[in-house]
Amino acid sequence: MLVLYYIISNTRYNQLYKDVVIKMIQMFNVSKTYEGDVLVKALDDISLHIKKGEFVFIVGPSGAGKSTLMRLMIREEVPSKGQIMVEGRSLPRLRQREIPHYRRKIGTVFQDFKLLMDRTIFENVAFTLEAIETSRSEIKARVPSVLELVGLKDKMSCYPHQLSGGQQQRVCIARAIVNDPLLIIADEPTGNLDPETSREIMNILLAINKRGTTIVTATHDKEMVDLMKKRVIALSSGRIVRDEERGGY
Ligand code: ADP
Repeated sequence: MLVLYYIISNTRYNQLYKDVVIKMIQMFNVSKTYEGDVLVKALDDISLHIKKGEFVFIVGPSGAGKSTLMRLMIREEVPSKGQIMVEGRSLPRLRQREIPHYRRKIGTVFQDFKLLMDRTIFENVAFTLEAIETSRSEIKARVPSVLELVGLKDKMSCYPHQLSGGQQQRVCIARAIVNDPLLIIADEPTGNLDPETSREIMNILLAINKRGTTIVTATHDKEMVDLMKKRVIALSSGRIVRDEERGGY
């Protein structure tokens, strides 16, 4: 009897442990409503699971809810209803003082780069590490190595305005990965780039994904989504209308 209990409880524990370890993002019946003059339901009963190491595109027309979904994942907003877990932790339940710590574990890349224009490329990437009190010697070792990964080691002492749009986006990717995050959230990372530069950026994201980092990216870039053949989650009016492995736009 005792042995049977031991086996059952152990199996349940293992299953629970497996769920937490394998699932990177879990959303359960998430809705987000904005209250203003009119009530806007930006997300409506979204349930999805994203596993560790996946590369996922979020697509859909403007206003479909993509950015809202991203903002919930980086805990910039909380759902009006439902639950979001990242690596087994409930995001709505995070205390205010725990939020910066959570954000440091994820890398973010945006369409409009958000680089510090009065700092060099090295300083822009080092900034993330300085914020978490990384030692000077470690910063000196890590920054050049991530800049090399995105092909910008020779631009370390340049300022952002001396770089092309594609190069600036590569700096943002370097900044997002320097802290070795398990998850990268990219909102329209190729939105301001020409098709060839977009392909370069996606190839860098793909290489990062192959090293084990989970990537979730919202995009309008039809050509890219069709080319990459990754999981595609399509939103329309705040609802999931399609979720396909190796999908198209
Ligand atoms: P997408 O990124 O797919 O273009 P969004 O998530 O930005 O879509 O927006 C989804 C819906 O929510 C839209 O109708 C938008 O106008 C509305 N919305 C988004 N953010 C806000 C906000 N802060 N306040 C009010 N309405 C918002």
